[in-house]
Amino acid sequence: MRKPYSWRVRIVKVPLGNRSYDIKIGTDLVDRVGRECARLGLSQRCAIISDRNVAPRYAKAVQAALAKAGFAPGLITLPPGETAKSLKTLAACYDQLSAQRLERKSFIVALGGGVVGDLAGFVAATYLRGLPFVQVPTTLLAQVDSSVGGKVGLNLRAGKNLVGAFHQPRMVLCDLGTLATLPVREFRAGLSEVIKYGIIYDVQLFAHLERDLPKLLRRDPHVLGAVVARCCEIKADVVRQDETESGLRAILNFGHTIGHALEAISHYGKYLHGEAIAIGQVAAARLSAQLLGLPQPEVARIERLFQRAGLPTEAHLNAPARQRLLAAMKLDKKVSEGEVKFVLARKIGAVEFGHQVPTVAIEQTLNPQSSPGNP
Ligand code: ADP
Ligand code: ZN
Repeated sequence: MRKPYSWRVRIVKVPLGNRSYDIKIGTDLVDRVGRECARLGLSQRCAIISDRNVAPRYAKAVQAALAKAGFAPGLITLPPGETAKSLKTLAACYDQLSAQRLERKSFIVALGGGVVGDLAGFVAATYLRGLPFVQVPTTLLAQVDSSVGGKVGLNLRAGKNLVGAFHQPRMVLCDLGTLATLPVREFRAGLSEVIKYGIIYDVQLFAHLERDLPKLLRRDPHVLGAVVARCCEIKADVVRQDETESGLRAILNFGHTIGHALEAISHYGKYLHGEAIAIGQVAAARLSAQLLGLPQPEVARIERLFQRAGLPTEAHLNAPARQRLLAAMKLDKKVSEGEVKFVLARKIGAVEFGHQVPTVAIEQTLNPQSSPGNP
């Protein structure tokens, strides 16, 4: 039987000159990968890179769709999780690509979450000095964030994403149907980035999320389609204005200064990225109230939306852990010359980047009981 909504595909254009591409958002796109790649005029040989959770569910359909359109797809399956973003896995990918005889004109299909997208994208950026690649993101986080904008890379022992490149995909296909099998905790973590777009750029999106959160949590394809498309539009708009992060693109880091530090001090074990930046965004909202006059009711709206999405809003750190967090913030790779810069909100939908924030204000925010008005 024909599934409902399958006809409805939204297209978001990412205009970057001769590296422009389309993001397509809809259901059943996994079955259309072949047709879509054929439209791009890509050459016959290709490799799908996926992971052990995603490949058993979706790789067969992608492979069949590619084969039906005349492509010859190989499959490389990575272990799931952040540890796959390593030099060791990278080397294994290169070996498999050469065994599969990929050539200069061959292409890569990244099928999976942000981990697969980052690693497969880096493989595509570097193998044979660069191959075209197509993103098929299967997590909410990857659909609204990491698959758009061309940042690819991997981790070193010394830190996350320390090796990387800018390599734009030729196309991004967000199949909303794949989100049905995403574990609920991962889905909620993706919502954290979704809410971020409302705060940094679009008060109407924020209000839409407040209104339709229950439908979104049920993964209603109508609401999901509209929301994913709007987030991609916003990210595309920011990336278009600042592809290599010399200025405006920094607003995408709202909540990330504290969020990244929280991930680092808990050794990437306790929080998913989306959870850490939920706490970071609530902290940034409180700092915004103190330093930029973000009205208190808006801080409360922000906190409430994260709570309703099932995301954490407090880190509950003791004094030594707070000190470790502050130290970790100063080590973040986005810090230049030892200064920690914050993205702060003047109101929901309007943020400013490059704010220096006194350490004592950060401490107070992380330990609300100790603030002067709350002895
Ligand atoms: P993210 O996209 O959040 O950066 P990952 O790429 O690590 O992170 O994906 C999160 C987890 O969800 C991984 O274990 C991955 O294998 C799994 N996963 C990704 N997409 C799906 C899906 N559509 N259904 C089920 N599990 C998935
Ligand atoms: Zn993020």
